[in-house]
Amino acid sequence: MHTVLGTRHGGARRALLLRGCRIAGEAAAGDERDILVGEDGRIASIGHRLEVGPDVIGVDLRGALVSPGFVDVHQHLDKTGVLKFTPNPSGTLQGAREAFARYARQAPEDDVTRRAARTMERCLARGTTAIRSHINVDKDAGFNGINALARLRSEWADRLTLQLVAFMTPHPNQDIEWLEKNIDAAVEQADAVGGTPAVAEDPMRYLDILFAAAERHGRPIDLHLDEHLNPERPLFDAVFERVRRFGLQGRTVLGHA
Ligand SMILES: [Zn+2]
Repeated sequence: MHTVLGTRHGGARRALLLRGCRIAGEAAAGDERDILVGEDGRIASIGHRLEVGPDVIGVDLRGALVSPGFVDVHQHLDKTGVLKFTPNPSGTLQGAREAFARYARQAPEDDVTRRAARTMERCLARGTTAIRSHINVDKDAGFNGINALARLRSEWADRLTLQLVAFMTPHPNQDIEWLEKNIDAAVEQADAVGGTPAVAEDPMRYLDILFAAAERHGRPIDLHLDEHLNPERPLFDAVFERVRRFGLQGRTVLGHA
């Protein structure tokens, strides 16, 4: 797969001619067309064997599929590439959570930046141009992850659209007061509010804190819901009631359900 990242040569932008493309969703098998990308980075024309001037850079894509950039709606860029630092002999989800919390407590801030940037680079090289990432904010990670990713979001803005979910992570025996005290500062840097209500000691109070913050800051909600195997305690109804109460219809995503 090729990803055409830009046309900047010697400081000035130049037009690009992508030759012999099979366009996703449009071309019949074997139908190859050229795509002319203008100096402004936008598609100027599509056709068979386009004639262009000598200033245009040609890229031979003969037979390659050309599609819009991929959108990845669920990543954890603060946790990418930590497997070797976070052994989890129990093999359980809770074991993994604790291993990451231990690691996050001592990881320097530039460590998140390095790991996240490397994964973003790989995603971009394989065609992903937009990512929504959940970033832990809790007593262990503090604001390390969200600060680092907020900087990357602006540094990468012309290549990759990054959306950050302030993921207010509750841990067993962790008082909810820390999350409540720090949620505004976290959400100010984020594009959405998230968390894992099933893990909170008081899921109802926790959900109220998240939804109230989303309403205060005008942000959507993106939760990891019912990340457990107990059919006796699903939280969907509690979430739906709050979606209505806080007016977040159409702005709520439930994942890991
Ligand atoms: Zn997740």
